[in-house]
Amino acid sequence: MQHRPRKRFGQNFLADQQIIERIVNVIAPGVGQVIVEIGPGEAALTTLLAASGAELHLLEIDRDLGASLEQRFALAPNVHLHRGDALQMDLSALTSGQRFRLVGNLPYNISTPLLFHALRWSDLIVDMHFMLQQEVVNRMAAQPGGKAWGRLSIMCQYRCTVTPLFTVPPEAFRPAPKVQSAIVRLVPHPKPPVHITDMARFERLVAQAFSMRRKTLRNCLRGLLDADAIAAAGIDPGLRPEALDLSQFAALAERMNAD
Ligand code: SAM
Repeated sequence: MQHRPRKRFGQNFLADQQIIERIVNVIAPGVGQVIVEIGPGEAALTTLLAASGAELHLLEIDRDLGASLEQRFALAPNVHLHRGDALQMDLSALTSGQRFRLVGNLPYNISTPLLFHALRWSDLIVDMHFMLQQEVVNRMAAQPGGKAWGRLSIMCQYRCTVTPLFTVPPEAFRPAPKVQSAIVRLVPHPKPPVHITDMARFERLVAQAFSMRRKTLRNCLRGLLDADAIAAAGIDPGLRPEALDLSQFAALAERMNAD
């Protein structure tokens, strides 16, 4: 019997075999690799990933899907199923501290929290390939100066090189989502591109700046940095946050440290 897609788990299953193959081709799985897949669902990608001989860890929250995955891959020694919420899982423990690749056609309702969760292990991650809403991929890969540039772009680009690969139309899924989707590749930097002494302060600064993106820095950073401190970082306090690049946000965060 066919599984009835559950909205609360963001279930839009890939149903177009050509697109499934195209995605697995860009991932290029192979023997000797450790791959973690978030949300294998009905195993659209999983079947090809498992056939590559890679050591595969599947994270699935849906009990019914978990049961059928267990049956389906019972005889595959390279496939390991972890049932539960990926957001609660320690990815380094699952893979016994080995470096791993991360893939997934992510549930769109929790794609941003899942991304931030994954980024915690960026020093162990070889690369990531995700299907996301195209609008989210645009924000991840955005450059300063435009509307799409914001917290997500900055946090992703601080950790990784972000490369959008191709778009996927709604008809490729069952049920069809209302929006276009896209495949994105993230490759963690071997060394951060800018120096940040205190990550928590940097995150607070970026979050506050973009919570009022129409205001000038002087106004939107009130309580964190005054106009003199902003100017001392070499930045015009009359600019809007979307004009600043990653290194300028890092410079502002260092000013907070100096306070
Ligand atoms: N990979 C399949 C495909 O491409 O057809 C399914 C993709 S579907 C968009 C998202 C999958 O993630 C579903 O199987 C869903 O049950 C699972 N999922 C949703 N939330 C999850 C969570 N917090 N942890 C693990 N899996 C989750």
